Amino acid sequence: MRLAILGGGESGTGAALLAKQQGIDVFLSDAGIIKADYKHLLTTHQIPFEEGGHTIEKIQSADEVIKSPGIPHTATIIRKLQNIPIIDEIEFAARYAKGKIIAVTGSNGKSTTAHLIYHLLHAAGYQVALAGNIGYSFAKCLTQSTYAYYVLELSSFQLEAIKDFKPAIACLLNITPDHLDRYHSSIEAYAQAKLNLLRNMTPLDHFIYNKADPITTQYLPKQKILPQLHPISPIDNPNNLLHLNGQDYTLSTSREQVALLGRHNQYNAMVAATAAALAGLSSETIATALPTFCGLPHRLEWCGAPQGIDCYNDSKSTNVASTTAALLSFSQPIIWIAGGIDKGNNYAPLLPIVQEQVKAIICLGKDNSAIIKSFRPLGLPIKETDNLSSAIDNALSIALPGEVILLSPACASFDLFKNFEDRGNQFKEQINARIQK
Ligand code: ADP
Repeated sequence: MRLAILGGGESGTGAALLAKQQGIDVFLSDAGIIKADYKHLLTTHQIPFEEGGHTIEKIQSADEVIKSPGIPHTATIIRKLQNIPIIDEIEFAARYAKGKIIAVTGSNGKSTTAHLIYHLLHAAGYQVALAGNIGYSFAKCLTQSTYAYYVLELSSFQLEAIKDFKPAIACLLNITPDHLDRYHSSIEAYAQAKLNLLRNMTPLDHFIYNKADPITTQYLPKQKILPQLHPISPIDNPNNLLHLNGQDYTLSTSREQVALLGRHNQYNAMVAATAAALAGLSSETIATALPTFCGLPHRLEWCGAPQGIDCYNDSKSTNVASTTAALLSFSQPIIWIAGGIDKGNNYAPLLPIVQEQVKAIICLGKDNSAIIKSFRPLGLPIKETDNLSSAIDNALSIALPGEVILLSPACASFDLFKNFEDRGNQFKEQINARIQK
């Protein structure tokens, strides 16, 4: 068996390490430059690799090709390999996983919910690992140890071509427009990629989904559905009744139970609690462990109160739906810092919420024209900035004690920052510096 791997990032390197551990003859090829730490791992494990281009003959001599999720199926290299089976890293990794898979996907909330499920199972003493799209590949995770449960955060890119991959419990949080560049502007293709989760699930498996999500409910009925369905609604009362194995569970995600802000997080918590109950946790264990999950950085993260003004870092918000959730999480007036690289956003759904909640908009981006054009009709103060320091100064000059400054950009960060973490970290540092003054 000869395996060729395309892409030398976290997924590709993880797959190479797992293949090597399994005694498979493996070769890795990357069209770009491989990061130093991944190169070091490949060299240490004596895995042959190339970078800066693909040697097509070498790849064509493989029995199977594993591609990294960042490479679309339409890429030239993939089109040249039509006669060889091509699979994704999670598909390959799942062949070697002995434990049960709990998969989490959706347009927003994947990281939070996957971490929360992990937190609950870990608190219950389960042997559980967290991997996937969180920056730690499933394949690499399998080379480290064996676990009874694998909680996997999965993007649509990782799901679009699955063949045999089968979770025991799958959570589809929501589907809102995102990454449409990869799907040729087709929301149906994007939804289908996420719904691929269902493909191999059996009547013994469980599918948790959002029954109030219009795109999910539009495309779900078109699937072959065998697993047991657990529809959850974010607008339900925060007590969910679940009947499992002849037992009634009441799962509560009331405000006292969930330490995270916002109704969207109550919904995430309900999904996580349901997954945990399906994995065998008692409602008492869930109720004890839920309040001790404090959330992740860059997701509605409180980062200080200079001059009595509460500042929140929601830098991970790179689309309109996640910023909608952020704005709905406050009852106080909000000075909203927004902008960056706009992935073709339609801001119209935000207009009523902005009108209701927002006192002023501070644009933070190289090109702020789309935000200005969309929100100017509301007649709110709109300030234009192209650097974080001036955005924060402007926000502080407008906000009164008791009000909120919220960085929730609805846009990608690459115009002014390295990535969303860099944007959020700089925001926190600058807020902190103003508290010290
Ligand atoms: P993902 O991994 O899907 O990007 P995260 O948990 O990292 O999700 O959160 C990304 C952004 O989406 C954050 O701004 C967060 O506040 C927001 N968010 C989290 N859960 C939801 C949800 N259920 N619906 C809408 N937005 C959400």
